[in-house]
Amino acid sequence: MDTAEVRRRYLRFFGERGHTVVPSASLLLDDPNLLFVNAGMVPFKPYLLGQQTPPYPRATSVQKCVRTGDIEEVGKTTRHGTFFQMNGNFSFGDYFKERAIELGWELITRPVSEGGFGLPESRIWVTVYHEDDEAAGIWQNRIGLPAERIVRRGMADNLWSMGVPGPCGPCSELYIDRGPAYGPEGGPEVDEDRYLEFWNLVFMQYERGEGPAKEGYPILGELPAKNIDTGMGLERMAALLQGVDNIYENDEIRPVLDRATELSGRRYGADHASDVRLRVVADHVRSAMMIVSDGVTPSNEGRGYVLRRIIRRAVNQMRLLGVDESTMPTLLPVSQARMKLSYPELEQDWQRISSVIYAEEETFLGTLKTGAQIFDLAAEETKRSGAATLAGAKAFQLHDTYGFPIDLTLEMAAERGLSVDEEGFRRLMAEQRTRAKEDAAARKSAHADLSAYRGVADQLGRSVEFTGYDEVVSEA
Ligand code: ATP
Ligand code: MG
Ligand code: MG
Ligand code: MG
Repeated sequence: MDTAEVRRRYLRFFGERGHTVVPSASLLLDDPNLLFVNAGMVPFKPYLLGQQTPPYPRATSVQKCVRTGDIEEVGKTTRHGTFFQMNGNFSFGDYFKERAIELGWELITRPVSEGGFGLPESRIWVTVYHEDDEAAGIWQNRIGLPAERIVRRGMADNLWSMGVPGPCGPCSELYIDRGPAYGPEGGPEVDEDRYLEFWNLVFMQYERGEGPAKEGYPILGELPAKNIDTGMGLERMAALLQGVDNIYENDEIRPVLDRATELSGRRYGADHASDVRLRVVADHVRSAMMIVSDGVTPSNEGRGYVLRRIIRRAVNQMRLLGVDESTMPTLLPVSQARMKLSYPELEQDWQRISSVIYAEEETFLGTLKTGAQIFDLAAEETKRSGAATLAGAKAFQLHDTYGFPIDLTLEMAAERGLSVDEEGFRRLMAEQRTRAKEDAAARKSAHADLSAYRGVADQLGRSVEFTGYDEVVSEA
């Protein structure tokens, strides 16, 4: 089942059950807490917060999302992309917990021939908030899930809020056991790769008061109108239904991975480090395209900085895979060919989107070229002096002054039989970061308020943490 069909089935299922089908909002909604939309519920916030009357009691959507906090996970786990799409169904004061669970269960277990996803019941696990006896009871008694596959978890994992006073509530997450080939048994708390999370059902039930986001923040009482917010990762469901190992191998992403593999002359699956690099490239090419499509251009701050970092990481990974020439003109059209099926604007706006990305690659390749020359001089000097280790200060200067990524320094040093004082490099990086933070605090910059991210991040986990400002543009 291709990704476009997974998307269609989700919307059809909920559409047929009284949900208004709402198109994805832009990634760039105006929200003081977010650089990018990072969940399906974001466009519906005014309804969920009771600030606006929803024009429909139920909605369903497939929302474009970007989570910059997941950038370091990409390629290494089976399940994190920087850009991804979230299927969701929403109830604004309409149905609640029992119906949300029933609908979810019906969709995933209904046979493929009857419009469902046909997942095997015996491999589904769920988590519930440890105090949510109601949800646990519904799973066990209404649905018939055995108690061993209903895992109770604490606030960090299963109590949702927006990080600020307002609606909050327990959530229940759905996992599938992919079998012993993927890791040890024991449930999602033991192995998140074997037990793959694919759906989060949020029951907005309580009103949260002022107070820190830690165990026991004040719950003021029940909300007058209870809401449902769910999020299912489209890429994850597609990968599951396609029987592939990870999200980068589904039909929307794999073609880019394959093309990058060809360009590098490698074989995907032959060695882990290269596989990770290829997945990063496949993910980042698509993310960059979707972010530019929504109107961002590379720059040194805010969204533009995130975009720049994503493009440069992709280029750098290709360089580490042995390709020195520009690759975006080859890879980007492959991604576009898949994604335009769901996002026709990629075709209409292609001239602009592609030229932004190609130009950023050229700029960065220029940077790399200069850096490589400086590196050669430094390496010669080191050897002449009889040392076998390139000084941390040199690696830092390459990085800081010439934008030359540390990964490349390490690789090129190894090629010349040199090691690098990485510890010294990291120390200088840390010092610089501290300085930058102090500067930023002093300037109280007019850009996005990071403390707001922290608050939200406390609630949603690392997924919304914005690391763009403290990390460096060209770090691999
Ligand atoms: P994980 O624990 O795997 O990081 P999460 O708990 O952070 O996921 P939620 O915030 O619950 O994710 O988002 C709802 C759903 O969106 C997840 O169940 C998953 O299917 C999907 N999802 C979340 N983050 C990503 C990502 N970076 N890439 C692809 N899909 C994602
Ligand atoms: Mg999770
Ligand atoms: Mg989750
Ligand atoms: Mg996460």
